Amino acid sequence: MSILIYAESAEGKLKKVALELASYAKKVAESLGTTVTAVTVNAGNVSELSKYGVDKVLKVNNDKLNSFTAKAYADVIKQAAQKEAAKLVLLSSTTDSIYLAPLVAVALEAGFTSNVVGLPVSTSPFQVKRTAFSNKAFNITEINTDVKVLALAKNTYGIFESTDAINRVSTEEDFNPTIGDADFGVKVASVEKSSGKVSIADADIVVSGGRGLKGPENWGMLEELAGVLGAATACSKPVSDLGWRPHGEHVGQTGKPVATNLYIAIGISGAIQHIAGINSSKVKVVINSDPEAPFFKVADYGVVGDAFEIVPQLTAKLKAF
Ligand code: FAD
Repeated sequence: MSILIYAESAEGKLKKVALELASYAKKVAESLGTTVTAVTVNAGNVSELSKYGVDKVLKVNNDKLNSFTAKAYADVIKQAAQKEAAKLVLLSSTTDSIYLAPLVAVALEAGFTSNVVGLPVSTSPFQVKRTAFSNKAFNITEINTDVKVLALAKNTYGIFESTDAINRVSTEEDFNPTIGDADFGVKVASVEKSSGKVSIADADIVVSGGRGLKGPENWGMLEELAGVLGAATACSKPVSDLGWRPHGEHVGQTGKPVATNLYIAIGISGAIQHIAGINSSKVKVVINSDPEAPFFKVADYGVVGDAFEIVPQLTAKLKAF
């Protein structure tokens, strides 16, 4: 059972999720006695993948794919899977793969499951553990098709150099799959970039603000804290709906999912729809003036108090550290 991973990149650089996926695939490959091939799209230098266990990289370089288009990307992955006769196709559970992975599965007539956590529970029958009900429960899913497509939940497995990394050099091959005009039926017209310096998808730390910050003019203190921590900035839904922050920063059930190492929520009440999108984060810190705010129920650390007093003090302490 050979394994193909789709190693995501942004602006010509591999994303952290790609390295996590490679680490995961390597471990699965060891248990199945097979190798790992990665397919990349306009990813620039991909040699780093070998450190994490990738044996071969199919590099697609095509300007038409500069903007993410689910159908075209699905076609690329399908053709790579067919070329490698891959029986297991792995993607990361990212915003893009929500659209992409089901299309890949349909194209390969494969069974599919997303939000996979941990290594397969069993390889025969093939069973994996996944999160369900907005991360409130786990279930074991069995896939019985010949080809299987899985999307790995972010920041749940970790990034590990493979034990034979020193001697490993993955082969790289230019790969030119056929992409028809019909693949570009839906086209990205424009991209609104988050104003944060670090992208939410790749951040180890996210500093997030809610309506408790009162207005867009008060985001300076949050950005300063994020800057000191090397964190991405995010916000609750009403904040982006009100136009205080760009929509790209909205996190939660209907926004971006966040599975980071540290999530700091400032002036956010902790509504169920917000928590659903962030509760895979490892450590959650809440700053809220209302001791009854629901967010405290899921917080690892909580500070009851006025954000306008606490945040500048916290930033000053961290700067002095
Ligand atoms: P509020 O609920 O207004 O909370 C503000 C908080 O700030 C309060 O807890 C208050 O005590 C605190 N505060 C006030 N002043 C201060 C101060 N000086 N210092 C410290 N704390 C202070 N929401 C999302 O975030 N993401 C989603 O994806 C999402 N999807 C939704 C989907 C649906 C279908 C629906 C119906 C709702 C969705 N919502 C989502 C909205 C959600 O229900 C809440 O309304 C929203 O999360 C509340 O945002 P908030 O906490 O910023 O604002």
